Amino acid sequence: MLIVPEKLIADLVSAEDAFAAVEATFAAMARDEAYNFPVVREALGEGRQYGFKSGLDRAGGMLGVKAGGYFPGNMARGITNHQSTVYLFDPDTGRPTAMVGGNLLTALRTAAASAISIDRLARANAKVLGMVGAGHQAAFQLRAAARVRRFEKVIGWNYHPDMLPRLGEVAAELGLPFEAVPIERMAEADVIVTITSSPAASLMSAHVAPGTHLACMGTDTIGKQEVEPALLARARVFTDEVGQSVTIGEAQHAIAQGLIATADITPIGAVIAGLAPGRQSDGQITLFDGTGVGLQDLAVAGAAVRRAEERGLAVSVEV
Ligand code: NAD
Repeated sequence: MLIVPEKLIADLVSAEDAFAAVEATFAAMARDEAYNFPVVREALGEGRQYGFKSGLDRAGGMLGVKAGGYFPGNMARGITNHQSTVYLFDPDTGRPTAMVGGNLLTALRTAAASAISIDRLARANAKVLGMVGAGHQAAFQLRAAARVRRFEKVIGWNYHPDMLPRLGEVAAELGLPFEAVPIERMAEADVIVTITSSPAASLMSAHVAPGTHLACMGTDTIGKQEVEPALLARARVFTDEVGQSVTIGEAQHAIAQGLIATADITPIGAVIAGLAPGRQSDGQITLFDGTGVGLQDLAVAGAAVRRAEERGLAVSVEV
């Protein structure tokens, strides 16, 4: 079994690697060559969350699980609140093949999913990127979005406005002007990424102009919510996995209110695999409900293991 520690990941897996790995995985899911197992997520008390995301990719020869969660006391200990590790197994024998640090990989694969949705669904001439959220993931989201469209400006809103200057620094690194705006001004954006841990809608349907693409990335569990459910009824809705979208994703609220049906939601993999159309007109609102699937984690962990083996960096242990 190979061990690829967290500290090596930044040198092994780029945003481009993550984009390619996740895109291939979404397409494999749409072709029924890969599937995710049910998500396990448990509240441990004192705000701690722990769970498992897992799956099997027959085409890619990947079987495995990401174990991890949210530990709010970690910041005081000098470590990040989100902690995760990916374990890979040989799909033929069940023998463990690799243990891979999953913290940076989570940010990379999440940003890759959002960027894939922008690449496939946003208008080609999108100029203004709207960011709702300014936490740890937001910086990765902004960098990944900037890779797939020639944005000329970034506008940002956050529930905690004091966090926005850091996001402005990321925009500046990319050579993009940044403006902190009231949320109503998201109507100026061609693409909006939402990446918050909000328990209630911040972005209303009235804040979104026709033709916008939204990547709603923050809602990954029951009870979280970033956008008004009416927005999903107005949009063509896409997701990484329909089962997760309607239960733990942003669509859980529109489904519960009867505003959309499960059949209205298209897996992004079907668009990638050429099995379903993407954007159908310049005026259409497209919304990607990114819930985060285990197969994304396996895909980027697999890429990390391959690179580590090529460079002789993986640590080999007998288990
Ligand atoms: P973070 O703690 O670094 O940032 C949290 C963000 O949410 C900040 O912008 C904060 O201002 C905002 N926020 C907090 N309370 C809020 C409230 N009451 N109303 C509105 N906004 C509020 O977290 P992060 O690591 O950036 O993660 C952001 C979200 O993305 C989390 O919900 C996380 O679980 C989710 N996430 C999703 C995926 C996926 O695959 N879809 C992957 C990783 C993280």
